[in-house]
Amino acid sequence: MNIHEYQAKEILRKYGVAVPDGHVCYNSASARDWAKRIGEGPWVVKAQIHAGGRGKGGGVKLARTPDQVRDFAREMIGMTLVTHQTGPEGKLVKRVLVEKGCNIANELYISLLVDRATSKVTLMASTEGGMDIEEVAEKTPEKILKEPIDPLVGLLPFQCRKLAFKLGLEGKQVGQAVKLLIGLYEAFVGYDCSLLEINPLVVTAEGDLLAIDAKLNFDDNALFRHRLIRDMRDYDEEDHNEIEASQYDLSYIALDGNIGCLVNGAGLAMATMDIIKHCGGKPANFLDVGGGATIERVTEAFKIILSDEKVEGILVNIFGGIMKCDVIATGVIEAARQVGLEVPLVVRLEGTNVEKGKKMLAESGLNIVAADGMADAAQKIVRAVQNQEKG
Ligand code: GDP
Ligand code: MN
Repeated sequence: MNIHEYQAKEILRKYGVAVPDGHVCYNSASARDWAKRIGEGPWVVKAQIHAGGRGKGGGVKLARTPDQVRDFAREMIGMTLVTHQTGPEGKLVKRVLVEKGCNIANELYISLLVDRATSKVTLMASTEGGMDIEEVAEKTPEKILKEPIDPLVGLLPFQCRKLAFKLGLEGKQVGQAVKLLIGLYEAFVGYDCSLLEINPLVVTAEGDLLAIDAKLNFDDNALFRHRLIRDMRDYDEEDHNEIEASQYDLSYIALDGNIGCLVNGAGLAMATMDIIKHCGGKPANFLDVGGGATIERVTEAFKIILSDEKVEGILVNIFGGIMKCDVIATGVIEAARQVGLEVPLVVRLEGTNVEKGKKMLAESGLNIVAADGMADAAQKIVRAVQNQEKG
């Protein structure tokens, strides 16, 4: 799960991380008021969307007067901001962060993430702040510094000092860096983050460290123990179908193809997507209904697939172990009855109660193509979708 920059900064502030004073605003009048309350200018007006690269897209503006803050807020709220992270369709801006601006002497990059190779939280840093870090990593990998963190003792001050020196920090900045980095690490662990990124962390003209951008991602599997984070969820920023799916405990990820997939088990779901591609088709989603899915969950899963306008055909691929084939069949029939089925549907069932499931589907009156094995199923759905496009 993601949150907005202003929310991330609220969290980091509690951990003693230096962030600018600011406030979120939903309209231009309140943006002007908050600018005055925050104190003297300049101020920065920042579009709050779940995507980076806002600076280049016109979503970060420096204002000299409260009236200018208001004008920038007016421009931004309601605009569709396109950045390299939003995709071409962009994201609608509904709120802005008005914040005290600073004079930047230098921009650094800091992040914390779980490194799968070492199974440790790793602190990454670079002198190339404010830039696209993927590009830095590709072109000048030597400019990315890494500090693995021992989970037993956590991030230690000497590690922070070492990194601070490598980043060219000096004097009081070194002490500030220790406090800031340890604060970041504690926030990361305290809230079960999967990613924390400060890009840029700046050295101000006065020589102080300040985190002027903040991005936090959380491990969804730990959200149950973080009420505060759950309450920060902004449903407007998420795919509608993914929200529906998460309410029914379904693992669903929208993709850009046209063949909807309903599968049990993540591995089989991946393999199903692969074989669709192999046969020349494109999956519209990843969907794992899980092992112990109920009829209700299968029905919802099927409805979610059907509600995706891109879907021109559906492949149901079930290997019934814990999951029984007749449960899947009931869910498919129920959902098709509720919302109507206007696209070709290929079903491959195997395992527990397979005969019963097949019989139910055959007698349902629905237009279902039965398949034997995965390859057959994938070929049949790809062909059905292609024929439909031709016809
Ligand atoms: P992003 O483009 O979505 O990553 O948004 P950022 O918050 O990182 O802002 C983009 C850029 O705007 C930063 O890299 C800075 O160069 C600039 N910027 C942001 N805040 C300030 C500020 O307070 N003062 C000045 N001078 N520049 C700022
Ligand atoms: Mn940034």
